[in-house]
Amino acid sequence: MRAPGTRSRDHRRSVARIWSISVWSENGNGLISPSLSSKGGEEEPPHSLVMSPTLKSSSPRFLDEDKALACIHCGLCLGSCPTYLETGDENDSPRGRIYLMRAVQDGRLALGDTAVRHIDLCLGCRACEAVCPSGVQYGDLLEHTRDHFEKHYRRSIPQTFLRRLVIEKIFPYPERMKWALLPAKALRALGVEQWLPKFAREAMSLIPEAISSADIPEISPALGPARGRVGFISGCVMSVMFGETNAASIRLLNRAGYEVVVPRSQGCCGALFAHSGNLEAARACARQNIETFEREKLDAIIINAAGCGSTLKEYGQLLGTDPQWKDRGLSFSAKVKDLTEWLVTARTDFGLRPSGFGFRVTYHDACHLAHAQRITKQPRELVKAVAGKNFVDLPESDVCCGSAGTYNLTEPEMAERLQTRKIENIVKSGAQIVVSSNPGCLLQIQAGLRQTGSNIEVLHIADYLDRATA
Ligand code: SF4
Ligand code: SF4
Repeated sequence: MRAPGTRSRDHRRSVARIWSISVWSENGNGLISPSLSSKGGEEEPPHSLVMSPTLKSSSPRFLDEDKALACIHCGLCLGSCPTYLETGDENDSPRGRIYLMRAVQDGRLALGDTAVRHIDLCLGCRACEAVCPSGVQYGDLLEHTRDHFEKHYRRSIPQTFLRRLVIEKIFPYPERMKWALLPAKALRALGVEQWLPKFAREAMSLIPEAISSADIPEISPALGPARGRVGFISGCVMSVMFGETNAASIRLLNRAGYEVVVPRSQGCCGALFAHSGNLEAARACARQNIETFEREKLDAIIINAAGCGSTLKEYGQLLGTDPQWKDRGLSFSAKVKDLTEWLVTARTDFGLRPSGFGFRVTYHDACHLAHAQRITKQPRELVKAVAGKNFVDLPESDVCCGSAGTYNLTEPEMAERLQTRKIENIVKSGAQIVVSSNPGCLLQIQAGLRQTGSNIEVLHIADYLDRATA
């Protein structure tokens, strides 16, 4: 029997063709629409895809054909897709989006507003990838599609400003981000936020009340018997807004017996670029980090931000077409560990014990930890070791909170819908503390809870564990 994802190319092609004939149909106006939905009935989609028979021969190839054809259109991913859960539109599902990507590649669909809209609305959360029986590498398909779209589609001036300047020229540079936050802090201090336009209010709501910075030494020695030496990725958003969390992460590693090295020449992991459609810039980040960490003798490279972690673990793939860097990328990625997966192995050695806090605690799965890295047990094991019987489950814990990197800036409406859904579930859980492991999730959930007037505390898992072991 073949393993999932290894079906023959001919088999995939024939299933893809049958599915495209039976499930999608042209409606006679040069438009196509899904004639069946996963709900089993006839359904008119809110949007139709504009087909252009003239595009066929001239479209550049941007998708790996085998990876695209791995989708057998079974629809098992639909129930996991947050945007499909919200809109019920097949075009906003993983299956519909893969079909759409292939249609653009094959020249059956114009690269216009409609195609871009459905790809923009994708969170890149990779929940679909985690449940796919055919092993479809959706994240890889999405990154290549976005890279192609950004090169060939002209965006509005505000969207270009946001994506090319704010997201690509400020966020990946901690010093620039610190300067960019100054006006926001001043406006907040003056109490004039309510007079700002909606998009500015929404963006400002994501900035935490207390931004913490911390001077992290380049080398922090192990405490107690030494077990090894690890590198630490300090991150862009993490180092500017969660400096104390980085310090807590290093303390935990030191207590677990590891000397921690934080090389000064490290840079952005590249996730912001890869997710927003600039793969060349992401590759440049990867090369810089590989060179930096190759200079150190390390047992592992630790990251405490889920979004960065998934990109760092995929440098080999990102540099897969570069023979000079592919193997170096694979070696680097093999050493990358999320803080929680590393600490679980050392749990008994760093003083983790049930605490007397007495608060009910729940855990929210960051998408890029749960779906992209498939790490769900380790953080729960650590949180439960402290919370004991005060741990409560979070309904829909692995449904995206709407943060999704910079999605809450580029797609604020859908981000708000998912934020509301997440906050309702947190309140339903009865928790007094929500723990997670990604800066974007923490900011998004904090903002949502603040808006409802809730006093539920939101903590990075490193801060939660540090409190318990201090
Ligand atoms: S579960 Fe996988 S194979 Fe099935 S429709 Fe979704 S992406 Fe395609
Ligand atoms: S990455 Fe997330 S939002 Fe995008 S298609 Fe997959 S499940 Fe849906």
